[in-house]
Amino acid sequence: MSGSEPAPVEDRRDSWEGPVPIPSGANETFWEATLEGELLYQRCEECGTSQLYPRAVCTGCGTTDPPFETSEGVGTVYSYTVCHVPGEPGFSDRTPYAVAAVALEEGPRLLALLDCDPEAVEVGMPLEVTFWQVSEEAAIPVFVPR
Ligand SMILES: [Zn+2]
Repeated sequence: MSGSEPAPVEDRRDSWEGPVPIPSGANETFWEATLEGELLYQRCEECGTSQLYPRAVCTGCGTTDPPFETSEGVGTVYSYTVCHVPGEPGFSDRTPYAVAAVALEEGPRLLALLDCDPEAVEVGMPLEVTFWQVSEEAAIPVFVPR
């Protein structure tokens, strides 16, 4: 555990029309923490693999239920795509928007929406996490420039 301050959680339940995550299994702990502004990842005690989003088994060695750790929520753009055509229903009023593979400082990478001018995004750009609460059960991680 890092002891860092939780990230802001913005209530988007009324305006969000995108996909809503359904917490289940290994994901339940992860989504519970998002409501508190905490980004969790898994680090395998057997082989050291860190992963996001959570899975029931380690992608490195197959150990079940790798334990959770709290990320500082900072990282950089590993790669990104600017979407001009909405890939999901509900994103039509949002195009163009950027989706990035975010490399967290702790190692794991996750795909996430970027809340910034898509033209300004570049590989290596420093980011920090915020959360948009989209349901009673989940707040999606959204990254902003740091
Ligand atoms: Zn492992």
